[in-house]
Amino acid sequence: MKPTADQPKTKRTIRQKIFLGFLIVVAITLALLWLAQVVLFDLVYSNVRTNEVKTTARHVKLYLNEANFYKMLADAAATNDMCAEVISSDGSIAYDAENTGLCLLHSLTQSQRQELIAMVDSAALLSLTYDPITEEYEVNSLNGVLIGGSNILYIEKVTHNGETLYLLLDAAVSPVGTIKKASASFLITLSFVLVIVAVLLANFIAKLIAGPIGAISREAKNLARASYTPPDSHSAELDELNEALSTAAKDLKKVERQRTELIANLSHDLRTPLTLISGYAEMMRDLPSEVTEENLTTIVDETKRLTTLVNDMLDISLLENGQKPMQPAPFALTEAIDATVKQYRELTAKDGYSFTFTSGDSVTVIADRAMILQVVCNLLNNAMTYTGEDKTVTIEQIVNEDSVRIEVSDTGCGIEPDKLSLIWDRYYKVDAAHKRAARGTGLGLSIVRTVISLHGGRYGVRSTVGKGSTFWFELPIAPRPD
Ligand code: ADP
Repeated sequence: MKPTADQPKTKRTIRQKIFLGFLIVVAITLALLWLAQVVLFDLVYSNVRTNEVKTTARHVKLYLNEANFYKMLADAAATNDMCAEVISSDGSIAYDAENTGLCLLHSLTQSQRQELIAMVDSAALLSLTYDPITEEYEVNSLNGVLIGGSNILYIEKVTHNGETLYLLLDAAVSPVGTIKKASASFLITLSFVLVIVAVLLANFIAKLIAGPIGAISREAKNLARASYTPPDSHSAELDELNEALSTAAKDLKKVERQRTELIANLSHDLRTPLTLISGYAEMMRDLPSEVTEENLTTIVDETKRLTTLVNDMLDISLLENGQKPMQPAPFALTEAIDATVKQYRELTAKDGYSFTFTSGDSVTVIADRAMILQVVCNLLNNAMTYTGEDKTVTIEQIVNEDSVRIEVSDTGCGIEPDKLSLIWDRYYKVDAAHKRAARGTGLGLSIVRTVISLHGGRYGVRSTVGKGSTFWFELPIAPRPD
């Protein structure tokens, strides 16, 4: 049945693939071994034997005119497992090395030897086969591979002590058959052993790999609940996978915690102004004498706070998704901060706040002016909210070679060291009973982080509990036109 679109094709398991892989390797190995045994063995063996015959002939011919020629011939034939004869032109034997072995040469009659001589001009390599049924000898020229049972016959017309003679060497190649039979039976045993070893090995490796993967995928089903207990793996890759999944589980837990906190914080931040607005509005509806400027201002302020919160939420999500494009342009940072600080001074003078700005040289940066001023305002708002009883906020501009650093310091409660890295997270608040900032929305530092990162700058905080905090950011200075 063909798989349809809704019916996905069943994939092979790792275990099946390993089994298949091993069986293919075994099949290829055996096929190659059998090929070598059946085809190549005969070829190689008959080549080696033919070369042996040629070399022996070359060797003994060197002694043709020596006194010990027949002795050398006998030795060479014996060493190479051949038999040798020297015959006269009439087929009679002049010398017989009388070696044992599967020699056909000795069984030839004089007339058969004569026939052989008649076939040869100078030197020849022949194959000599004896048919036991017809009891006949067959002589062929030696082409390619020798068939089993044939002997290699070398015959050459030579002159020894002035007499024309014929040198005959006979090398049996019949051991090939025996060796082939032996190695065939060895191959059959080897094939069985190889298949069994392959199956056992495949099973072992499959268990080693597929087992832990199965355990990991079973455990990974709990990831949806942000839980993951890494099973034993026995391999570096699976350890890595375990680590990645554990990190994913931790991240999911963190996101889950942030989501719960977000809902808690948001409902707190939304509910407070909404309760105030509806409370004041109802009071004014029921008691016309309460329609005072002060009450109306409270309603307007709380509405503004809601608007700021919603705007900040929108801003940060647009910034983080890259949907709010930056509009970088050169602007005088020092003057812009100075103007902002002046506004803060005027607005908060009646409440007793003091703002000091130390700037030094005037600096120009290439950045999105509105975004950078939002960062400055967020830091000033926090400093005002959290500063100590002296209500002092200090702003300092430090100019380095190619960057400028703005530091906003307060004299407040400070932040515990373990919280320092967390305060930049969205909606993170150091304590749950979070002090209600004049303009803060719980997103201030998150906006600082996103904006400064988008500008390729750096940001950070130093804080001492009980003494105050210094929040800072750094931006590259615009190159001066020459
Ligand atoms: P918000 O101030 O509206 O809560 P922020 O993102 O601006 O939100 O700040 C996150 C948290 O960091 C605050 O809840 C506060 O606990 C801490 N924080 C920020 N600025 C200061 C500061 N100047 N002094 C002490 N704590 C601060």
